[in-house]
Amino acid sequence: MATRKGTDFNILLDFYNRGFEVATHTDTPSAITNTTILELEIKTERQTILDNVFMSANDIQGWRSPYLKTAGDEQIRVLKKLGYRYDTSKTFVRKNATGGLNSFPLTTDFPWPYPCNIPPCWTQSHSNFWEVPINALWDYKKAYPCPTADGCHNRPDTEEDAREFIMMNFKNSYNGNRAPLGFHMMGNFFRHVPFYRAMDRFIKEVLMLPDVYIIPISKMLDWMEQPVPLAQITRYESWKCAPLASPTPAMPALPTLAPKLSAEKCVQGQNCKLPSCFCKTFDHSMNKSDIPQIVYLAIDDALDTSVSGYFERLLFNRTNPNGCPISATFFVPTTGTNYTLVRDFYAKGMEIGSHSVTHNNVITREAVSREARRSKENLATYADIPLSDILGYRSPYLATAGDDQADVLQNLGYAYDISYTFTRRPSYAKNVWPLTADFAWPLPCNVAPCLRRPHRGFWEVPVNSMWDYTNTDICAYADDCQRPPPTHDHVRRYLTNNFKNSYEGNKAPFGLHFHGRWFHESRNYMGFKGFLDYLQTLPDVYIVSVKKMLDWMQYPTPKSQIQTFGPWKCAVMKRPQFQQLS
Ligand SMILES: [Zn+2]
Repeated sequence: MATRKGTDFNILLDFYNRGFEVATHTDTPSAITNTTILELEIKTERQTILDNVFMSANDIQGWRSPYLKTAGDEQIRVLKKLGYRYDTSKTFVRKNATGGLNSFPLTTDFPWPYPCNIPPCWTQSHSNFWEVPINALWDYKKAYPCPTADGCHNRPDTEEDAREFIMMNFKNSYNGNRAPLGFHMMGNFFRHVPFYRAMDRFIKEVLMLPDVYIIPISKMLDWMEQPVPLAQITRYESWKCAPLASPTPAMPALPTLAPKLSAEKCVQGQNCKLPSCFCKTFDHSMNKSDIPQIVYLAIDDALDTSVSGYFERLLFNRTNPNGCPISATFFVPTTGTNYTLVRDFYAKGMEIGSHSVTHNNVITREAVSREARRSKENLATYADIPLSDILGYRSPYLATAGDDQADVLQNLGYAYDISYTFTRRPSYAKNVWPLTADFAWPLPCNVAPCLRRPHRGFWEVPVNSMWDYTNTDICAYADDCQRPPPTHDHVRRYLTNNFKNSYEGNKAPFGLHFHGRWFHESRNYMGFKGFLDYLQTLPDVYIVSVKKMLDWMQYPTPKSQIQTFGPWKCAVMKRPQFQQLS
């Protein structure tokens, strides 16, 4: 279900060519219940896809409403008029987790026969049109139904729970009435690693069953229209495929370096020297009271007008104790990014890093090589950023290619990667300082693969996990807590508490890693603003880009001299122009 906004049509075309079904959906700020707007929206959406993806118009058959809010009978009329075959916006909840049965898809010849969860539901008769009900799943504790797979009240947070969640729902159909089982969700739920892994396992396992088929909705409806027993299914015309093309020749194998864990221990000042090498440490050699507290903001994903305003208001008018503007680092993918904004942010002193081109999983040497190069070129070409200023890279979903990634990034002129996580345990333990990969990745590997070989002089900026506002769970990203802080005051205190772990502790640079969309909820925006306001009352706190943080790492400078620290200086503020008296 693609929307024109944010969709990369090259990827869509590729998926279509691989046999995936492309259907339409739209991103509107509010539900569409007005028929005229609905018709316009559907037409535009459909036409945009046809203009950008070379596919047959007959292949666009399905529609899903934003927020699952429909226009009832009118919606079906409009969809039919525009040549659609089905809608999949109505929800159905089976009675309980294991006993109740899911609904089969149905035609709209008679009024919607189930409870109308989100009115209006259609009440008239529409021939020749299908409704594919969104069968709610039940959560892994069998306690509550989830409207969509990513919307469970009890979210599965381990791979085992996620597996139970998927399997239990699958078996309800498989061992029950065999109603087609749908997983309805947003793609970004796969960022939730336990779910991703469990789904991957599930797909591999069920494909070993002789009677399970994973197919797009249109092919499922073919079967509904012309039910064919299992015994004849291998000859079922609609499900036949062109013979698989022979696989493209593999890339020539790269010489594999035997994974070698360096036995040598990193000793600062001996086998590792600044400015090009820094050992893993929890305690800097500088006296703690001399260390300025660095705060860096590492913000991910497309920079566009849906988020730029937050940052303009939050960041553009603040200064550090040395009188220079604060800065932040934006890791932007090419997809969805507005380069005019990037250029503007860069001009305002913000650092821009790469977050790939496609924002897909970029986890092979070839993919990193392609995406890290092209995204850098795009930033240079479209936002006029000098290549020498594009120094940081962050992997989509923090899924890396391990040693290959560091090799490639270093070759492409990147100075640092910011994709590996570190979690202090317990919550009052110390955060780790940034380090160079001269001795591989010397910390626990939370998301494999991590670095097993040395990469001389290449910086790794650890993504320090946060502890949530109840201080019981960790949040990989600041905006990724399973239990989000409920009010702006909780947000502010949650950020402050995590900050104080560094500020009142080892003074390790404190990183906030998050996405701009976090501020769509005003409590997060307000809480974050309160936190920044608090930071600005502290005379020794500097909010700088990752690059400037690393400048300090390379040339550690005590608080007493920081006012004259070269890399943190700024252009002299322009003096107001006085009118010449003539
Ligand atoms: Zn991202």
